[in-house]
Parts: sequence; C-alpha cells; structure tokens
Amino acid sequence: EAKKAGGGCYRRYRAELDTHRTRFQMEREIKAALENRQFRLYYQPQFDLVQGRLAGMEALIRWPHERKGMIPPSEFIPVAEETGLIIPLGEWIFESVCRQISAWQARGVAAVPVAVNLSARQLFSRKRLLAQVRKQLADHAISASCLELEITETMLMANLAQALETFDRFRALGLSLAIDDFGTGYSSLSYLQRLPINKLKIDRSFVRGITVGSRDRAIIESLIHLSHNLGLQTVAEGVETREQADILRNLGCDKVQGYFFAPPLPPEEIERQFLVQKKS
Ligand code: C2E
Ligand code: CA
Ligand code: CA
Ligand code: CA
Repeated sequence: EAKKAGGGCYRRYRAELDTHRTRFQMEREIKAALENRQFRLYYQPQFDLVQGRLAGMEALIRWPHERKGMIPPSEFIPVAEETGLIIPLGEWIFESVCRQISAWQARGVAAVPVAVNLSARQLFSRKRLLAQVRKQLADHAISASCLELEITETMLMANLAQALETFDRFRALGLSLAIDDFGTGYSSLSYLQRLPINKLKIDRSFVRGITVGSRDRAIIESLIHLSHNLGLQTVAEGVETREQADILRNLGCDKVQGYFFAPPLPPEEIERQFLVQKKS
C-alpha cells in the first residue's frame, strides 16, 4: 500500500519535473526565436456581412520551428506571459504590424484596420505599452485608426480599474478597442457601460452551435442586441459554414471572421487575395 502511494508520488514528482523542464526549455527557445527573428505574423481577414467587403484583419502570431513544425500560440503565449517574455514579444508584434501596414500603404494597397491581441501582462505595464504604441505609430507614420486592440473579457475582469485607465489613454490616441472571446468571462456586464470600447467579438464556442432554434443562437441574438444598444459593433469568430454565416447575417451581426471566409494567411497571400491596388 505504502509502496503504491510512494510510487504515485514519485510519478507525480517526475511529471512535475518534466513540466518544469519543458517550460524552462520553452522559455529559452522563445528567447532564441525572438533573437533569431523566427516568429511570423499571419493575418486573418474579417468581412462586412452586409456589403461582403474586407473590413479588417486580425494579426495572429506563428512560430515555424525548425524541428517541431508549427508551434501553436496556445503552447507558447502562456509561457511567454508567465515568464514576462510577452513584453519583448509583444513589442516585436506591434512593430511588425506597424511595419506591415506602412508597407501596404506605401504600395498603395487599400488598407483596413489591423487588430492586435494584447495580453494582461502588457496591459498592466501600461506606461511602456503606451510609449511603445506611440513610438511605432510615429516611426512608421501611420494613423492610429489603422490599429485595433483586442483584450479578452477574462483579462479585463482581473483588474478593471487599471484597464479602464489604460483604455482611456488608447482611445485618446485614436485606437479602437475590442473585447475578445466575449461571452466566456462569466462576468457582470456592468463594465460594458464604463469602458470606451468599439467592438465585441463573440466567442466561437457560441457560433459553433448556432443552428436554427438552438440556445447558442438565442445567446448570440441577445449579444448582438446588447452590443447594438450600446452602440458597439459585433464580430463573430470561428465562422466555418455557410449556414452559420447566413444565420449571423439574419441576426444583424456586423462582421465575421472564420475558416469559411479565410484562414489566417501570410501577408503575401493577404495581398494577393484581398488587397487591391489603388488606381494611380
Ligand atoms: P484568439 O485571439 O481568440 O484568436 C482566434 C483563434 O481562432 C486563432 O487561433 C485563429 O486561427 C482561430 N480561428 C480562426 N478562424 C477559425 C475557425 O473558423 N474555426 C476555428 N476552430 N478556429 C478559428 P490561433 O492563431 O491558434 O491563436 C490562438 C490564441 O492565441 C488567440 O486566440 C490568442 O488568444 C492567442 N494569440 C495569437 N496570436 C497572438 C498574438 O500575437 N499576441 C497575443 N498576446 N496572443 C496571441
Ligand atoms: Ca483575438
Ligand atoms: Ca477570440
Ligand atoms: Ca481565444
């Protein structure tokens, strides 16, 4: 009996040790990948449901690893957050997005706003974040209206007072703000009237089950009403089928993003497929 328990403890200990080891290794690899410029940004188009036009894009980080193939952000973003590496990584993301926008503008392709995901750690080192955003906008001579920030609902609730102050500063700069994964935070909705936000992104867990008469459909319908009553736009994420897109259009959802329309793509593909050269 005792032996069995001891074995269990040992195994648990080994498992923990392995987790620490892989975390530590991951931390070193993220650092190296940053130094060696191995990260890439992909862009996923968002479409206007009424006019059927490209209406924006979301920048999503990609890590093509020499040995392990494509490492998904869900594996390294949490480690980057825990270790603080998200600060330099986040700065690289901002810089790359701004450089990309400015390159597209220089080539005369019709630009749409690009959304950048923020992590809690970035949001709470506010001075550094604001200074960096200001600097990148100035360095690349782009207008603040080209950028949008996405913050998850859960992240907001962790420190509402501080988020509120940061959001006010961003709005003063002219950036637009979206609440990401909306509906998954189990929070009171009272914060919505206090935050200077522009958009709600409805989480794809609701979109998945949105067939006619379903509960998810009822939830999405109320979320859309809620945001419109508050003067906010709605973006539905994770739209994978025509049926989902049709239902969302009928419910009055403003924008959509998902594999049915386009997956996240490298900038060259975005250009080739979606950005049209302005006539000069
Ligand atoms: P998110 O911000 O909610 O991003 C949307 C995720 O849904 C992306 O996963 C995207 O590829 C995926 N997606 C898009 N359309 C569909 C669809 O039709 N069906 C399904 N099933 N999925 C779809 P990805 O790129 O793996 O990113 C996962 C999460 O990692 C993001 O969730 C975000 O929280 C985080 N992340 C990604 N890039 C960044 C970044 O640059 N900075 C930060 N801080 N976090 C990032
Ligand atoms: Ca997002
Ligand atoms: Ca999301
Ligand atoms: Ca998410």
